[in-house]
This record gives sequence, structure tokens and C-alpha cells, in this order.
Amino acid sequence: MGEKKKVSILGSTGSIGRQSLEVIKNLGYEVTALTGNKNIGLLEEQIREFRPALAAVPDESAAKDLRIRLADTGVKIASGEGGLIDAAELSSDILISSVVGTAGLRPTMAAVKCGGRRIALANKETLVCAGHLFMDAVKKYGAELIPVDSEHSAIFQCLDGRPREELKRILLTASGGPFANTPKSEFASITKERALRHPNWSMGAKITIDSATMMNKGLEVIEAMHLFGVSSDKIHVLIHPQSVIHSMVEFCDNAVIAQLGTPDMRLPIQFALTYPERRPSPAGELDLSAIGSLTFSEPDLDKFSCLATALRIADRSDVSHAVMNAANEAAVSLFLEDRIGFTEIGEAVTDAVERLGDAPASDLDDVLAADACAREYILKQRI
Ligand code: NAD
Ligand code: MG
Repeated sequence: MGEKKKVSILGSTGSIGRQSLEVIKNLGYEVTALTGNKNIGLLEEQIREFRPALAAVPDESAAKDLRIRLADTGVKIASGEGGLIDAAELSSDILISSVVGTAGLRPTMAAVKCGGRRIALANKETLVCAGHLFMDAVKKYGAELIPVDSEHSAIFQCLDGRPREELKRILLTASGGPFANTPKSEFASITKERALRHPNWSMGAKITIDSATMMNKGLEVIEAMHLFGVSSDKIHVLIHPQSVIHSMVEFCDNAVIAQLGTPDMRLPIQFALTYPERRPSPAGELDLSAIGSLTFSEPDLDKFSCLATALRIADRSDVSHAVMNAANEAAVSLFLEDRIGFTEIGEAVTDAVERLGDAPASDLDDVLAADACAREYILKQRI
């Protein structure tokens, strides 16, 4: 207890990144490196407060701007993917990977290859598009991988180190998002303003849209397969609108263990940092009698085609997951720019997987080539 760990954050200006810094401040840990993207003002504030040794942004002109703003601090500012990789590789106890999308893949992989350190993983896209390669590297270099995604943190907590043979099924809960009760006939007219209003969680824009399409749950099924070494038939998606049970594990004796809590990402973030210890947390207490009842139902795969596609291809080991993920990222960006409609996201994802998903995924270059190809395909189709 009381040990001052050193933590680096990839994506510190995002929703998970900001909450991570809050948790780090509460725990009294030190910050080694921070990275951001467009929000230079916030990154400057974070650098002034937490004084990392290094900060990085993808864009060189943003880095120049930051260097001028921070000239009085002596903090080193790097740029480009190389800069992000430098930040990831800087010696620390824990690397929080909370960049959104495939942009997080190479830097997170670089941190894994440093060996020995803990990776607190929020960036699920990394596991979706390159899960086999990523998990192989985790084993080979002896990294310790702890999930931050609330469902996966719940599963990790329920498993509590028990052997895989005892695990019968994972019950992966989903809120169902804002359109769980909206008829399919209304889906085409859903605006981004409506899709961005999640009933239970406050998150970055991309994952909020992923929750509305239920692509998020599809990505999470694949994320869980890699993290816990199970095939998709061992994962059952369950709609649970209250988001109180963050997921469950059914064991071989049919006992089911669940992890419950208020929907507050600071809880799984802190657990990933302090594990195996638990510490007092800023997350609120759970008041079950105020909530009253917890309900469950099956997902509607006819309505949520992104989830249906993800479940259909979940056990494949070609580039189909990378294609699905990249097509989704590209389509969500177009939706957020009002250039395509809500239902076109699912159509784009399914179409790209059918056309481009078959190539082998033998190394990171294959995965990134498939990723680039899928993005280009979606942009060309929808202009
Ligand atoms: P966000 O959009 O709020 O933040 C994303 C971060 O990534 C920002 O710091 C941004 O600067 C950085 N970034 C974006 N594009 C980049 C690029 N091209 N290169 C380098 N950096 C870039 O997203 P978020 O909601 O914090 O989600 C982050 C990750 O965590 C996602 O993978 C998401 O699926 C996962 N996650 C988020 C939540 C949540 O509650 N927000 C819950 C579970 C999992
Ligand atoms: Mg989640």
C-alpha cells in the first residue's frame, strides 16, 4: 500500500484519459508520459499539472505550438507516430492505452514489447483488429494485461485468477444503448444528436455511436475472446438496461458470479492500476433498493446488424476483424459529419467485411494494410 507507481497515458485528453488522471491524482501516483491529439489546450493544462518527462501528439505543427506554450517547463514534446511510440516506451510501471481506434495499435504494441510492465487496456480496437498478434506479444514479452473496459474488468474480477477449465460461459451485459426500444422502421431517421445521448454512460463520441449501433458489444465479444482465451460460443450477450451488473461468469458447476457497481469508469480504471489491491474510490456507492429491479433480455440481431456481423465473424482469424473495425471507424466519422445516415453504418461494415475480409492476417503489416484498405473503400463508396 502507498507505493508511488509511475504511469503513462496514451490518449490522456479523452474521456478515459481524463478520468485516469483523476484516479492517478487520488492515488498519488506519478505521471511519466502523456499523449493527445487535437485538444492542445487541455494537454497543456495536464502537462503543467502532472509534469511528465515526455508528451507527444501526432501532428508536428501542434507539437511546435505546444513547445512554445510549454517553453518554461522543460517538458520534452515529441510528434508523429514515432513520438507516440517514444511516449509508450518510456520506462513506467503502467501504461494506460486509451487512444480511440486503430491509432492506438502500434504505440500499445511498442509498450508490450518493452516487457515486464502492466498494460491497462481501454483501447479495445487494438484487440479487435490484431488480437492474435497482440496476445502473442503479451505472452512473448511477459507484459501484464489488465482490462479497463467495464465489462472485461468485471469478467476479470469474477474469474479472480481461477483456471480456464472452470469457466463455462461469459455473460457479457449490454445496456442496449439509446435505441433498444426504438422500432427498426425509425432507424433510418436517427440523427447524430440522438445517437450521442447514451442513457447510462458518458463517453467519447466514437464509442457512444458504437453503443447506439451495438457495434460496441460486437467489438467487446472479440475483445473478451482474446483476453480470456475463449471461442465465441462461450460468450453470451445479454441486454441489461440498468448497467448495474457489468458482466458475469458462469462456472462449470453452474454458479454465476457477477460484478456490480454504479456506471462509473473510474472504478475499472482504478482497479487496473491498483490490482491486486482494492482502494477507496471516487465512484459512488450502489443503492440497489433505489434501483429496484434488474432486468435482462436477448439482443435483437435483426435490428442491430453491426452486432450480428461481429458475432458471425467472431471466430475468424483472417483480416475480417480489422476490416470490420476500420470500416466502422470510417463510417462513424462520416455519420458524425452528417454525410451518411445511421443505418448506413451497419451496411458499410457488412459490405466491407464481405468484400475485403478474406485476406490472411499473418503480421501487423497485413492488419494495417487491411485497415487502410477498408477505410479507403468506405470513403470511396460514400462520397
Ligand atoms: P475519446 O475520443 O474521448 O478520447 C480519445 C483519445 O485518443 C484522446 O486523448 C485523443 O486525443 C486521442 N486520439 C484520437 N485520435 C488519435 C490519433 N489519430 N492519434 C493519436 N491519438 C489520438 O475516447 P474515449 O471514450 O476515451 O475512448 C478511448 C478508448 O477507450 C476507446 O478505444 C474506447 O472504445 C475505450 N473505452 C472507452 C470507454 C469510455 O467510457 N469512454 C469505456 C470503455 C472503453
Ligand atoms: Mg464496455
